[in-house]
Amino acid sequence: MKQQPQAIFRLSAYSLSQVPSDRKPQIAFGGRSNVGKSTLINTILGQRKLARTSNTPGRTQALNFFEIDDRYYFVDLPGYGFAKAPLAVKEAWGKLVDGYLSHSKNLAGVVALLDCRRDVRDEDQQLFEWLVDKKIPYVVTLTKTDKLSANQLNKARTRIKAELSSDIISFSAKNGAGVKELWSWINKRVGGLIL
Ligand code: GDP
Repeated sequence: MKQQPQAIFRLSAYSLSQVPSDRKPQIAFGGRSNVGKSTLINTILGQRKLARTSNTPGRTQALNFFEIDDRYYFVDLPGYGFAKAPLAVKEAWGKLVDGYLSHSKNLAGVVALLDCRRDVRDEDQQLFEWLVDKKIPYVVTLTKTDKLSANQLNKARTRIKAELSSDIISFSAKNGAGVKELWSWINKRVGGLIL
């Protein structure tokens, strides 16, 4: 059996100057708050509490860096889409995430999460536009797919594919769907980056 990767929390970056400056590749995870991002990160790493689940709306947002096998980083991007967040918080989110996506030389790819039961909303579109504009490789990952029947999930995939014209991975922390596919995508991205 394949060994679980070693994952260690390294730091929270509240500004771009705090982003690690070594040359290890970075794989970022982005999505709306409550989309299941922490659960997905914990699941694929075989950990229970590495990334914190259910973040409090509006609390200070940071880029959280986890070092994997001493070789690369997972970057947990702050969740977006709190309806009640003050404008200043939304602006700070935009500045930090846009800045990171624009300037991180070691960003090898982004896992962009969407809840399979929800429509693509404005803030999701914003993230996808940035990824396309900045030519950052990304994979759309649908979360919580255990909540839909196979037929409903097929419909959701078709709808989202038409909207985003991207490859899609269906993921569930409950039944393990998509874990292998995600690792295959991540390994290709971190292995393919020439350092
Ligand atoms: P985050 O805010 O994006 O980090 O979201 P969390 O990881 O905290 O997940 C939000 C909620 O969705 C929690 O109640 C999780 O238990 C639930 N959840 C996350 N992933 C799954 C999944 O694959 N299946 C189901 N059924 N629930 C999930």
